[in-house]
Amino acid sequence: DFVMKKVRIFAPATVANVSCGFDILGFPLSNVGDEMVIRKREEKGVRITKIEGAEGLPLEAEKNVSGVVALKMLEKLGIDQGVEIEIYKGIKAGSGIGSSAASSAGVAYGINQLFAEPFSTQQLVEFAMEGERLASGVAHADNVAPAISGGFTLVRSYHPLDVIAIPSPDDLYCTVIHPQIEVRTADSRNILKEKVPLKDAVQQWGNVAGLVAGLIKNDYDLIGRSLEDVIIEPIRSILIPGFDKVKKLSVEAGALGCGISGSGPSIFALSRGKETATRIKEAMNQAYKELGIDFELHLSKICASGVRTLPENI
Ligand code: ADP
Repeated sequence: DFVMKKVRIFAPATVANVSCGFDILGFPLSNVGDEMVIRKREEKGVRITKIEGAEGLPLEAEKNVSGVVALKMLEKLGIDQGVEIEIYKGIKAGSGIGSSAASSAGVAYGINQLFAEPFSTQQLVEFAMEGERLASGVAHADNVAPAISGGFTLVRSYHPLDVIAIPSPDDLYCTVIHPQIEVRTADSRNILKEKVPLKDAVQQWGNVAGLVAGLIKNDYDLIGRSLEDVIIEPIRSILIPGFDKVKKLSVEAGALGCGISGSGPSIFALSRGKETATRIKEAMNQAYKELGIDFELHLSKICASGVRTLPENI
């Protein structure tokens, strides 16, 4: 019998919220993310042996999102073995493109592979949410669900957890600018208002329904009209230097819509086709280069697969 002792995985970056869908919508990028190696150990417990590609992330299992997720899973399995984790970050913490989610989702998927898939996809999402609870104080699923499942993902309900895959057009592209400043999810949550005026709520749920309908119907105009956030963006965009300019130039370059990725500071734009996405990339570059803040740009299709195993020798 083949017994898997070690697994190497890729965990994608994710864009959550997607303008109108605060805490409920998200999708993975295809070419940005973390890699991890997870090995079985004979001794109980979780050891994080290496973190590369990011500064200042904790090696203590209880303080690292991947350690917390691994500990919960091993506890649930009730076994005498443990795991060892190496993390190669492709996404800086506090990026707004799901850095903590990639580590959480990656370890959830990886441990499930190592121990012959004892858990359902839904359970993997629930384990990964514990990592998000550590990172931001709230066990949100809008990054970890798409990171695990792939494709556009709707968290219809949290209690009970109900995750729905939303089909999306083949030619939908995403351009992301990631300013190299850290906005902590915990901070950008604290500035939000608890109460929402009814007329704003009506507008927002009209947009959420419109976006989902547009994705399913391949209706790019409807997607574009629906990419509007009247509740969160007006407050959070204040934390992001150059937000209004990036949005204006992206829309002028042909974006269907442009908004804050997750809790920021990353800004995403959706578009039809790679050519437009490339023009938007140039527009974002233009908008940001005078600000004196370093940034990274990403261009990607909406990734149909989520976290996945990599061939060992890559
Ligand atoms: P992001 O939107 O990029 O996920 P968050 O603010 O949600 O950013 O999460 C980053 C926080 O999670 C930081 O405080 C970071 O120290 C903590 N953290 C713990 N473990 C990890 C990890 N393995 N990867 C990324 N962040 C981690």
